Order: sequence, then structure tokens, then C-alpha cells
Amino acid sequence: MLLITCPHCGPRAELEFSYGGEAHIARPVDPTGLDDEAWATFLYKRSNPKGVHAERWRHLHGCGRFFNVLRDTISDTIVTTYPAGESRPEMTSDGKENVR
Ligand SMILES: [Zn+2]
Repeated sequence: MLLITCPHCGPRAELEFSYGGEAHIARPVDPTGLDDEAWATFLYKRSNPKGVHAERWRHLHGCGRFFNVLRDTISDTIVTTYPAGESRPEMTSDGKENVR
């Protein structure tokens, strides 16, 4: 079981959370200008990286808030968590958060 650190509540068991898909998917600026292919890309096509992946999670049985997680899909470990609305943290080559 994963131990996920909610940015608002602290570390909690994975059972308290629900997965919300890939993070940082921006809505189209001009939705009426999109053709079917562009809509399909926005709605359904997601990255599936081998390595660190930005994901959206919700602390369903806690504060109820959405936040973002960087999870390594190879080791299934959480690299870091950060509040929704913040940009993805830069990581160093050894997987540590690059603090500026
Ligand atoms: Zn929480």
C-alpha cells in the first residue's frame, strides 16, 4: 500500500485517496475551433510514461481536495506531491526535487 502525503493533511494511507487521471491537462482555449481529431486528443489521449508521471489525485476520505502527485511508474513510489494549480516541480537526475 502506498503512503500518500496530502499537501493539506499530511501522510495518509492510499485507501483514503482516489486517482483522478493525468495532471496538467489544459482545456482548449477555443473549444468551438477544434475538429473531431483535436477533441479526441484532448478527451482521450494521455501519456503513459515509463518513469515519473504527473497524476491528479483526490483526498476523497479526508479534506476532499484535488492535488497533484509525481509517481514513478517503474517502482510505484511517490516522488512528491503538490497542490493543484501549481506547476510541476523540476526534478534532478537522481529523482530529487530541484529546490530553487
Ligand atoms: Zn487532504
